[in-house]
Amino acid sequence: SSVWQGVEQGPEDPILGVTVAFNKDNHPDKVNLGVGAYRTEEGKPLVLDVVRRAEAAIVADRSVNKEYLPIIGLASFCKLSAQLILGADCPAIVEKRTTTVQCLSGTGSLRVGAEFIGKHYHQTIIYIPDPTWGNHNKIFPLGGVSVRKYRYYDPATRGLDFQGMMEDLHSAPSGAVVLLHACAHNPTGVDPTPEQWEQIRRLIRSKKQLPFFDSAYQGFASGSLDRDAAPVRSFAGDGGEMLIAQSYAKNLGLYGERVGALTFVCGSPDVAKRVESQLKLVIRPMYSNPPGHGARIVEAVLSDKQLFQDWTVELKGMADRIITMRHKLFDALKQKGTPGRWSHIVKQIGMFTFTGLNKDQVVFMTKEYHIYMTADGRISMAGLNSKNVHHLAEAIHAAVT
Ligand code: PLP
Repeated sequence: SSVWQGVEQGPEDPILGVTVAFNKDNHPDKVNLGVGAYRTEEGKPLVLDVVRRAEAAIVADRSVNKEYLPIIGLASFCKLSAQLILGADCPAIVEKRTTTVQCLSGTGSLRVGAEFIGKHYHQTIIYIPDPTWGNHNKIFPLGGVSVRKYRYYDPATRGLDFQGMMEDLHSAPSGAVVLLHACAHNPTGVDPTPEQWEQIRRLIRSKKQLPFFDSAYQGFASGSLDRDAAPVRSFAGDGGEMLIAQSYAKNLGLYGERVGALTFVCGSPDVAKRVESQLKLVIRPMYSNPPGHGARIVEAVLSDKQLFQDWTVELKGMADRIITMRHKLFDALKQKGTPGRWSHIVKQIGMFTFTGLNKDQVVFMTKEYHIYMTADGRISMAGLNSKNVHHLAEAIHAAVT
């Protein structure tokens, strides 16, 4: 007998549970396209060369110890992170209107942001895109922020439902928080154009809503850190306030190191200082202070000219390999004459393709072809390589015919 006798079996996580199922499968041709983690052409996880070099220097440095970091993390890491996403010449940084805290990757940054909004912001409603990364639905209510959806994806065009998005933001209350994927929208791979971003920005500002950017893929969408940050920078450039959650999981491959940052762009330096003081009070009882190792790696890469330059090359290499896989998959389906339109595979952006395959087709592909993906038909393009892409094309062909 147990005091936990009444505890019910919980469901697997919709994304991480795919890997659990994959690991149980013994088939030699199995493919995991579930989790959004980069794989090499050989299908292996990648530790970036710049990370290895930075890490070696940190380990060799006898002055680096394992003491606690401050509650808000490594100061230089925070400063460099804000510069990376906003641009070093961003007026808000120059005017000292920003505050950045080191958090536990993107998820932890969103969670701290949620907690702060729940405690210190008058409007505890956040609008998130439909669909979105599933964890958004769970993170915000824990901070006391209720979640509502705005239209985002149009299944008919497999593109952006721009009109629906604008209508929903227009009818959202003044002051509401609006969650925006900075680039490479997950799960759809559909981003607004620069012109659409401009209209979105104007609408959000005119409604006095508060933008909260989730930046989990900077550099991964286009291969350029600056280009992928453009929407965030245009919001910061208009002088308005905003929040940004950054993750180094994907673009530096630091998934398990849990390193990310939460930045507040505030109306004045004085407000930024007070916000920071309250962020400390939010963080201290949650996890006290963040881990040091990953932040030191990021600090080293961002502060060293050569490492930074080499990082941009490695990052572009990852982004380009993914884009190549889009074309290989598209070509393979075209060659087979697979029914349906598949141009969205090459049009969508970032790590994922939202295939349009339905739940039954996904189940079929897993059962018959040992291909694992989330039930919404999202596939991680990073899990594809020259060897397995034809296997996937065959499976899709069989699923739709
Ligand atoms: N936000 C989005 C949209 C994501 O896709 C992810 C990861 O898949 C995250 C945030 C957070 O990831 P992590 O906590 O590993 O940085």
